[in-house]
Amino acid sequence: MSPDFSSPWQEFCRSCMECKACSLYKERKQAVIWRGSVKAPLLILGEGPGAQEDLQGKPFVGRSGMMLDDLLEALQIPEEKFHIANVVKCRPPGNRAPSVEEARACRPLLNKQFQFVQPQVIMLMGASAYKFFTGDLDGKISQVRGQWIHKGSYWILPTFHPAYILRNNTQKDKLWDDFKMLRSKMEELDFIEPITTVGI
Ligand code: SF4
Repeated sequence: MSPDFSSPWQEFCRSCMECKACSLYKERKQAVIWRGSVKAPLLILGEGPGAQEDLQGKPFVGRSGMMLDDLLEALQIPEEKFHIANVVKCRPPGNRAPSVEEARACRPLLNKQFQFVQPQVIMLMGASAYKFFTGDLDGKISQVRGQWIHKGSYWILPTFHPAYILRNNTQKDKLWDDFKMLRSKMEELDFIEPITTVGI
């Protein structure tokens, strides 16, 4: 059965899958657009698809995705409350970071995605997500993580990428602390009910 592209969201997804605005389209198996809920108060932004994401067509489905899912589950943030996306929708070869040009080429699609999702809280996972979303290209994720940025209607929290934590397990507590800050903000903004005990 052919896919149904009749809704504006599905039409958007089709435009992503057909996009050739940068050279990353040449080696992709498919554009990787989202998972979670189309409209959600929380948008979690990563860098770009890896091998598993390229294969499965969803962001954060490899080992990093398992860590992210564990954090969301431990903090009882349900799927209808989040939308997961990446700075670029096509896999950079060899899992390298996206270039400035590639991130800029993909930004109009990300901006359009934001119009559908309408998030108020944004978690930026890793240096590329921080740099390309905020435009602070010289920023160091180790210096900005765990600090809220309030810009317009957005509450933005940079943190480490789970792939970095998988390589540097000693930093795991910092990622956990940042996710607890994220949950507190979502409670404060009345997006989720408070919980009394959390843990992983
Ligand atoms: S990475 Fe983004 S801009 Fe580049 S081809 Fe893929 S969808 Fe288009």
